[in-house]
Amino acid sequence: MTSWWCEHAWLDGGPAERVRIVAGPDSRIVAVATGTDPDPADERLPGLVLPGFANTHSHAFHRALRGRTQGEHGTFWTWRDRMYALADRLDPDSYRTLATAVYAEMALAGMTTVGEFHYLHHGPGGARYDDPNAMGEAVRDAARAAGIRITLLDTCYLRGGIDVPLEGVQRRFDDGDAETWAHRVSMLGDDDGFRVAAAVHSVRAVPADQLDVVVEAAVGDDDQPRPLHVHLSEQPAENQACRDAYGVTPTRLLHDHGVLGEATTAVHATHLTPEDIALLGSSRTTVCFCPTTERDLGDGIGPARALVDAGSPLALGSDQHVLIDLLAESHALEMNERLRSGKRGRFSSAELVSALAPAGHAALGWPEAGRLAVGAAADLVAVRLDTLRTAGALPDQALLVATGSDVDTVVVSGRTVVREGRHLLLECDGSSVADLLADAVAGAWGEA
Ligand SMILES: [Zn+2]
Repeated sequence: MTSWWCEHAWLDGGPAERVRIVAGPDSRIVAVATGTDPDPADERLPGLVLPGFANTHSHAFHRALRGRTQGEHGTFWTWRDRMYALADRLDPDSYRTLATAVYAEMALAGMTTVGEFHYLHHGPGGARYDDPNAMGEAVRDAARAAGIRITLLDTCYLRGGIDVPLEGVQRRFDDGDAETWAHRVSMLGDDDGFRVAAAVHSVRAVPADQLDVVVEAAVGDDDQPRPLHVHLSEQPAENQACRDAYGVTPTRLLHDHGVLGEATTAVHATHLTPEDIALLGSSRTTVCFCPTTERDLGDGIGPARALVDAGSPLALGSDQHVLIDLLAESHALEMNERLRSGKRGRFSSAELVSALAPAGHAALGWPEAGRLAVGAAADLVAVRLDTLRTAGALPDQALLVATGSDVDTVVVSGRTVVREGRHLLLECDGSSVADLLADAVAGAWGEA
């Protein structure tokens, strides 16, 4: 048995004081008691303890672009050119090294699970590695080294645009057709900290007739649908190309091919029609917003409140990692809605916690994680309430002022990965995760 005593903890009903949480040998929570004194054996956690955060949308290697694309004007599309130059350089070793540092950065900011939207499958020119899943295995290794869970959202990516063949570095993404993609993915196996799921890169990258194959492949051996993620309407140009080719919006196209549903997550969902919002909501498709990326790339502000009101669960991701701080993503979600509506309090703290933890975990196929409740995985994130940012804040409002820098302790399935802001697995020999990141980014660009 492992036990913790929390000054404050966010339970299903909201924040509670003096909370004891006990985990059994299987690292699931077996008891939660409020208003109690600590036992001598309890680990005491400071501040406000939240359930572990799920980073529902990540491209780990994009972290190497941080602070390297800001010196020029441009658009999403010019940023993508830099991203392709980086993608062209990576191999399984440099990908593993970079992703390990990036996932460690996530752990330090309270993330216990990451969804890696993974499309850099093959070698230069599209050559197959001896293990055709060598790149996917590299991110499995990386998450394990960083002490967090991962869902590998293995991404089907077949076209450079609707009716546009893949060219250049894009050939590294290419499996030829959806059946070949599905066969490769079927060779990956789950483990304790790793689950395989599927993704459609976008309606730009997967022809409509191949969508059905991906949907079929995203059903597990138990006949239950596995998570299926898709980039949706991040840019107006995608909507226009889809209308030109198919006569419908991307959301309608996905709906007509059976892609939407409770196991599906639409990422970005920025430029939607009222009908799109209704289709996503009524199908209970999760929407994953990545507000710090969407503002960094000038994408726009998606209709988050309207989607939730229509029935969609909401999750959060740090996507291209201009920032790795899921608390900051939740702030941006709320603040974007304030700027749009001229009103405050557009999302309740409970809704923001849902987006940070249980909704994201469910979207990544870990429904047992994301709550501080009996039966849930023992994932705990202690956020200090005595820092420069949080001192004086009320526990139930601290969520909108705390940042990832205020995270003190992170427990993943009962195992302490971060304590007093230090990564216990990777900062034990005097080097910091910042050092690991600096070396990995330099290595990725060939500067080391
Ligand atoms: Zn993305």
